[in-house]
Amino acid sequence: MIEVEVKVRADHSKIRPVLMEMGASKIGVEEQSDVYFAAPYRDFAKTDEALRIRSLGGHSVLTYKGPKLDKVSKTRVEIETPVDGTATAKIFHSLGFLEAGAVRKKRDIFRAGEIIVCLDAVEGLGEFLEVELDVEDKKDLESSRAELFKFLSQFGLSEKDSIRTSYLEMVLEKRN
Ligand code: ATP
Ligand code: CA
Ligand code: CA
Repeated sequence: MIEVEVKVRADHSKIRPVLMEMGASKIGVEEQSDVYFAAPYRDFAKTDEALRIRSLGGHSVLTYKGPKLDKVSKTRVEIETPVDGTATAKIFHSLGFLEAGAVRKKRDIFRAGEIIVCLDAVEGLGEFLEVELDVEDKKDLESSRAELFKFLSQFGLSEKDSIRTSYLEMVLEKRN
């Protein structure tokens, strides 16, 4: 699966009324607690990959993300599977993987047609908006990305507002 994703900084109180007006439906609220891992043999910050255990509502999901595929969005291969978070972390630690950092956020999730809209309140960082389309085929990347930017234009947002820095990088930058 390829996630086609655009992230922007956004005041949620300005976004919510527009979402309501366009008839977007709320599909969930998640308290996400993410731990990112660093491999002993490869610097994921340099290779632009990610290895993460996400804990939410009593269960955990393991995620691999590949390098970003374009210059304007956060489009990339994403592989996810449910796991036992505690056991998986123990396995990683045993193999010499270190924790690179943690990100905690509250995510309000909406659906507007095919587009998944996330209102993220990230601990220590503030409010963000992420919009996402998942595609199977690389040939659909460009049209999906265009669709996301067209969607964002309804909020007065454009390509120049797109942030490609990850929450983890922002958390780490703030810490240093
Ligand atoms: P998702 O969209 O899957 O819910 P998210 O929105 O919580 O994730 P993002 O900021 O979109 O978080 O993506 C996580 C990011 O963390 C990835 O872009 C990845 O490249 C980055 N990352 C992972 N490991 C490292 C590392 N060691 N150093 C710097 N960045 C990393
Ligand atoms: Ca995503
Ligand atoms: Ca994201």
